[in-house]
Amino acid sequence: MSDLEAFRAETRAWLEANCPPSMRRDIGDENEAVWGGRNFTFRNPDAKLWLERMGERGWTAPTWPKEYGGGGLSREEAKVLEREMARIKARPALLSFGIWMLGPVLLEYANEEQKREHLPKIVRGEIRWCQGYSEPGAGSDLASLRTRCEDKGDHFLINGQKIWTSYADQADWIFCLVRTDTAKKHEGISFVLFDMKTPGVEARPIKLISGSSPFCETFFTDVRVPKKNMVGKLNGGWEIAKRLLQYERQNISASGFGGAAGPELEEIAKHYVGADNGRIADPDLRARIAAHRMEAKAFSLTVRRVEEEAKAGKGVGPAVSIIKYAAAKLNQDKFELMVEAMGSQGLGWSGEGFSAGEIAAARAWLRSKGNSIEGGTSEVNLNVVAKRVLGLLDHQ
Ligand SMILES: Cc1cc2nc3c(=O)[nH]c(=O)nc-3n(C[C@H](O)[C@H](O)[C@H](O)COP(=O)(O)OP(=O)(O)OC[C@H]3O[C@@H](n4cnc5c(N)ncnc54)[C@H](O)[C@@H]3O)c2cc1C
Repeated sequence: MSDLEAFRAETRAWLEANCPPSMRRDIGDENEAVWGGRNFTFRNPDAKLWLERMGERGWTAPTWPKEYGGGGLSREEAKVLEREMARIKARPALLSFGIWMLGPVLLEYANEEQKREHLPKIVRGEIRWCQGYSEPGAGSDLASLRTRCEDKGDHFLINGQKIWTSYADQADWIFCLVRTDTAKKHEGISFVLFDMKTPGVEARPIKLISGSSPFCETFFTDVRVPKKNMVGKLNGGWEIAKRLLQYERQNISASGFGGAAGPELEEIAKHYVGADNGRIADPDLRARIAAHRMEAKAFSLTVRRVEEEAKAGKGVGPAVSIIKYAAAKLNQDKFELMVEAMGSQGLGWSGEGFSAGEIAAARAWLRSKGNSIEGGTSEVNLNVVAKRVLGLLDHQ
């Protein structure tokens, strides 16, 4: 038996023994997802157990080095773990900006003390992170950010405002871009980490069109941050910021915002539009759903190819912008088709005239509108593709 096959057998046995049965199905509604952190309330004790077991083994971050709490797995082993989890429909033990975005850049840019301090807590889901990038006036043009960070001798003093900070009201710590030099644009930005409980930090939730309130305006007033919390060099934050965005886009894309439409879209269409010999009765809708599924298949093959390239040592790069762009479009197309098929039943917000599934579909459709904005807008990702993947000239 090859080493990888032995690993597969071991992994299968471990998952069989340790993944609680109630964790072997998709996350039903967003409240079931586990984000961890100091104040997280587990709705299901099995979810806590599952996180503890996976965290202890480092399998919430399978490829991170063991010395920082990770699983220490090779990419091939991590793939085996992923497939074995999928085999029993095991849900992720932890959703985490720390794992998707911050951890990879800490591994690349942080000093030893910072890695030892933060990475193990991310792996175990003890600290929940939020992303302090966007500001009013600095979204796509992120390098225009103005949140000031002044050197006060033994500490930094931060003043300013962030916006669209997802889950800032629930996060324990923030990774934040700040301005440390006003004379230079890109070379005047630094990357700092701080506790959201620090005096002077205030997060005010903003409601989304979908009715939920996942993000905030975040204000900083005379926030004192220890100097050891700066990652990388003073004024060297832009490089880290861009790398983190690549990881963000990669993760958004890999998740496909929850996946392109599978057979359930056809079933929904048949239910609402009717079936004709087992096929969706409306030929135009049928053709468009078929085209969507073909596009989704092509997308998943492309994602696999990109993953193989990453495995071959190329790592993340600007090409993730292609995938982020396509993932956003596919997910939005899926929900457009879904609510169209549902007709007036796809427009329910609340009330007895609509089932819970119909209301959830309408809200998910509205939520999908943000897909082409979050993690960099579609237009901006197309610019990245034009300039940095295709090498076209920047005429601006
Ligand atoms: C669901 C969601 C979650 C988010 N979470 C976070 C978070 O946790 N932390 C965080 O920091 N931010 C977060 N954001 C913010 C997000 O990163 C920004 O909204 C995004 O970068 C766009 O910035 P903006 O909103 O200022 O729009 P703008 O930059 O003002 O863009 C407005 C429009 O102009 C277009 N545009 C701008 N510049 C160009 C250009 N050069 N070429 C062509 N078109 C252009 C854009 O594509 C867009 O259509 C989140 C956003 C959403 C929707």
